[in-house]
Amino acid sequence: MKKTGFTTTALNVPYAKQDPHKALQMPLYESVAYEFDSAEQIEANFKGDYIAHVYSRTTSPTVEYFELKLKALTQSRGVIALSSGMAAISNTILALTKAGDNIISGNRLFGHSYALLQTTLSEFGLETRFSDLSSETEIEQLIDKNTRAIYFETVTNPQLDIADIEMLARVAKKHNLVLVADSTITPPNVFNAGKFGINIEVMSTTKYISGGATSFGGAIVDHGNYDWKLNPNTASYTEKFNDNAFLAKVRKNIYRNTGGSMAPQTARFQIQGLDILELRVEKCYQNCLALGEYLNSNPKVKKVSYPGLENDDRYPLAKKYFNGVPGTIMSFELESKDVCYSFMNKLQIIRRATNLNDNKTLIIHPHSTIYAEFTEVERIAAGINNRMMRLSVGIENVADLIADISEALK
Ligand SMILES: *Cc1c(COP(=O)(O)O)cnc(C)c1O
Repeated sequence: MKKTGFTTTALNVPYAKQDPHKALQMPLYESVAYEFDSAEQIEANFKGDYIAHVYSRTTSPTVEYFELKLKALTQSRGVIALSSGMAAISNTILALTKAGDNIISGNRLFGHSYALLQTTLSEFGLETRFSDLSSETEIEQLIDKNTRAIYFETVTNPQLDIADIEMLARVAKKHNLVLVADSTITPPNVFNAGKFGINIEVMSTTKYISGGATSFGGAIVDHGNYDWKLNPNTASYTEKFNDNAFLAKVRKNIYRNTGGSMAPQTARFQIQGLDILELRVEKCYQNCLALGEYLNSNPKVKKVSYPGLENDDRYPLAKKYFNGVPGTIMSFELESKDVCYSFMNKLQIIRRATNLNDNKTLIIHPHSTIYAEFTEVERIAAGINNRMMRLSVGIENVADLIADISEALK
C-alpha cells in the first residue's frame, strides 16, 4: 500500500482475514478457543506449518487486529498487545535477561517501573544500574559483559525531561545492547522510535491509545533494527525464527507462560482509540499551548513547565524527536502547598485524578500523592517540590479550561 498519513493508515489497515460480512468495524471475537477441520490440520498447526488462532491467551482475532494496526502505525517488524503497560515492560525485561545479568536504566521512571526493577526483578537475580543517563562516560562505566539493555522513558513524568536519545542509541549500538524506550508519553503519531535507533518500544496503551481512559493495555513494538544473535537470551530463537526471534520468545515463552494477554473487549476499545489518536493529540497539544500562554501571563503562577513551548529550554529536543509535541502533560507552580490545595479544590471542570491522557483534563499534586512514599531528600533529587501540580491536558474547549483555572486562582 502507498504510504499515507497517520489517520488514513489507521483507518485502512486490512484485517488478517476478510470478514464474511465485510463489516467495516473489526468484530469483537470473544472466544477462548478455535476449531480445526481435521486431526491432521491441528497437528500441522502445532508443528507451525498451519497458522491459525488456537487459544486466546496466546493470540486472538480482535487483539491481532489491534497489533496489526499498531504495527502499521509504528512501521515496525511486529507488535504484541498485553493486559497493561506494566505487563509490556515486565515481559520485555524478562525476555532480554536472565539471573546474573544487569540492565542500565534511567533513574526518573514511572513509579511502578522503578519498583519492578528495584524490587521485583532484583529478587530474581536481575541487577539494575540506575543513572540519570546524561553522561555517555558514566553509562559506559556501568556496562560490563553481563549488561543486556539500556532502558529509559522518552519524556519523564512529571519532570518532563527529554532523553538524549541519539547518544543512548550510539552507546547501545557500540556495546551491542538492546535499547528499550517507554514511549507512553509520546504516542506514535508524534514519535517514530525506530528512526532514532530504539530497538524495542514499550507503551502503556491505557493512556493515549485507549481512546480516553477506556481500558487497560500495553504494547511491545519490535522495530526490526537489532540482531538478536547478539543477545545470549534471544540467540537460540534466531535458529528457528530469524529476525522474529525476540517477538517469538515473548509470544511463545514469556507472554504465553505468564498470562499477560490483552482482553478482546479491550482491543475493541483500543482499535477505536488508534483511529482517533492523531485528532485527540492535536487538540490536547493546541490546548497545552493556549494554557501555557495563559499560565505564563498570570502573576500568581510562579513557573510553567511544558517542553512544547518555544521558550522552554528543552524545546529544541522536543522539535528534534517529537515534531515539537513532547506529549501533552505540563506542570506549573503556585506560591505554596496550601495555595495549590485551595486552587485544586475550587476547580469545576478540571478533575482531581492520577491518570494521564484521558479526554478530560486531570490535575494532581505529585509531592503528596505519587511521591508520598519518598523521603524529602529523594523528592528533591527527583525534582519534585510541594508547590508544583501536574496537568494532563484534555480535549475540552480551551476557553472553558482557562475560565476554570482563572476562577480557581482568584
Ligand atoms: C502508566 C504508565 C505505565 C504503566 O502502565 P499501566 O497501563 O498502568 O500498567 C508505564 N510507563 C509510563 C510512562 C506510564 O505513564
